Amino acid sequence: MSPPESEWFKVQTIPNAGRGVLASKRIPAGTLILNSQPAAAHVIFRQYRKEVCAFCFAYDRGRTLAVRENEVGKVFCSVECQAQWVLDQGDVGVAAWRELQRYVMLKRKFVLDFAGLAPVGAKPGLDVIRATWRDAEARRRAAMEGKGGKRGPKANANQSVDPDILGLFLSGLLYHAKYPDKWRDEVLCLAMDEEPYKSLTDLEAHSNAFAQLASILPAELSTSLNDNVCQVLTQAGSHNAFGIRSGSEDGEEYMGYSLYPAASYFNHSCSPNIVKKRVGREWEFSSARDIEVGEECCITYLGGDEKDLTVDERRTRLSDVWGFKCMCTRCSTEASR
Ligand SMILES: [Zn+2]
Ligand SMILES: [Zn+2]
Repeated sequence: MSPPESEWFKVQTIPNAGRGVLASKRIPAGTLILNSQPAAAHVIFRQYRKEVCAFCFAYDRGRTLAVRENEVGKVFCSVECQAQWVLDQGDVGVAAWRELQRYVMLKRKFVLDFAGLAPVGAKPGLDVIRATWRDAEARRRAAMEGKGGKRGPKANANQSVDPDILGLFLSGLLYHAKYPDKWRDEVLCLAMDEEPYKSLTDLEAHSNAFAQLASILPAELSTSLNDNVCQVLTQAGSHNAFGIRSGSEDGEEYMGYSLYPAASYFNHSCSPNIVKKRVGREWEFSSARDIEVGEECCITYLGGDEKDLTVDERRTRLSDVWGFKCMCTRCSTEASR
């Protein structure tokens, strides 16, 4: 278990706040203290799949990007990005993306627009979550052993298909297969949400996606499918996901999200002393002002909006999305006025 190491900070348990990042020496303003490294898993939402580079996340005001690779259902801003992506995924990865794309095309009439659907069922508790995943796992095993279960696109017939969840899971499965040590040391030590599903629909969409992937993926990835990777991705993503946003002058587009284990230890403050900036597919974290030894390094989870919001607006948003009541210095000061 190893949080990121740095000459500038250490990750430490903070009373009543879980873990946090503390300055281990004085950090002058403008110092780059951490690079996130590439994500352990990510998804570009299907509605943006022709507009966002699958390698560097470049976005050109909604234009369809120049380099298209239909077989894997991805676009790239340049042939260099395309080549880097192929290298990064490896043969197994490219083959897996091709299988997934073929599957989604074949099943396109089962692709639901979940964004437009009202969620069904209350937020499921642990018992329901466990039973649902046990069932999905049994279906997968039956398919693997050929006992009445099917492999291939005919398995799981008539189930709805969610390309966004499938894509998120596949990216994580490939990361797990390629970097088992990083998975164990970085992903598995993140804060996990044991009940991450918003509704019964949401839970079923995730467990179905797992069973569907199991029926179509190359055998090389079966170890990763065995290893609970899909459940962990959802549990870790709930508290640690970073939005992939355009950040363009035409307004922010929310294009997808990703999991950066090294960057997940920063707590939130409405008056953050660390600013984050996405550079291609990685994030850079720099000090916004001088930070003293022992001071906690915090980012904002509100993406810049915190500047103009009242304490009540900030607290409501943070509590809705992240599930905590903000007690940062700014909130405490403003609330007591
Ligand atoms: Zn690119
Ligand atoms: Zn606050």
